[in-house]
Amino acid sequence: MIKPQTFKHIDEMVPWNGREHMLECVAWTPEAPDVMTFTFRAEEKNIWFRYLPGQYITLELPVGPEPIMRTYTISSSPTRPFTIAVTVKAQKDSIGTRWMFENLQPGMKLKAIGPLGDFSYVQHPADKYLFISAGSGITPMMSMTRDLGDRDPDTDIAFIHCARSPSDIIFRWELEYKARYMPFFNLGFIVTELERTQLWSGLRGFIDRAKIALLVPDF
Ligand SMILES: Cc1cc2nc3c(=O)[nH]c(=O)nc-3n(C[C@H](O)[C@H](O)[C@H](O)COP(=O)(O)OP(=O)(O)OC[C@H]3O[C@@H](n4cnc5c(N)ncnc54)[C@H](O)[C@@H]3O)c2cc1C
Repeated sequence: MIKPQTFKHIDEMVPWNGREHMLECVAWTPEAPDVMTFTFRAEEKNIWFRYLPGQYITLELPVGPEPIMRTYTISSSPTRPFTIAVTVKAQKDSIGTRWMFENLQPGMKLKAIGPLGDFSYVQHPADKYLFISAGSGITPMMSMTRDLGDRDPDTDIAFIHCARSPSDIIFRWELEYKARYMPFFNLGFIVTELERTQLWSGLRGFIDRAKIALLVPDF
């Protein structure tokens, strides 16, 4: 049965107090090979998520008789405060993240600690930002970009991301969309591998000074 939704304005709700909370999984979204976004809401219905873009949470995962703790950056944006999301990559032989892939379903609840961390543009206000990431390291950059895109779409951001192949680029379509609607958002992808049949007009190799200079002339 579909539950009726209760509409509440944010000032009728209370902020996450930054200690321990139970989160209820509401969705999982495949992003790239071995990469998944899990979205949560607070178990207590009147809570909104208060955090800085770039901060992280630690999840308690009931993998065995003893739960294990894994830390993930919040990939969603505090400008959309009714849910929170983490985007996780399961490496070969992963225990914690792989458990999430194989077991975490909408309706399940996990204990979360946080948010914590100082890696946020909010702590370093500037006229323009250069975000550089590789692999799953894109998650704090994505949270900050989503936040700035909602708050101030005119922000000058150069976003450079390196992935193994074009299909491994996490959030590719959303970033390309942002590059269309944010007038000063410059996006550069770099891939290290390309299959013979894959079309690719971006750069190849690893992030280095020459590529940064090419993608961000004002660096
Ligand atoms: C601040 C912060 C933010 C982070 N944000 C993210 C994020 O947004 N997304 C994300 O995906 N990750 C993030 N991480 C990393 C995350 O916390 C985990 O460390 C990572 O996902 C690996 O955990 P796991 O459970 O997948 O693998 P684990 O089970 O911890 O294993 C990690 C690797 O170690 C190897 N290994 C495991 N056990 C052993 C052993 N006994 N002997 C030898 N090798 C072993 C495995 O081969 C595996 O590849 C973040 C970490 C920090 C500190």
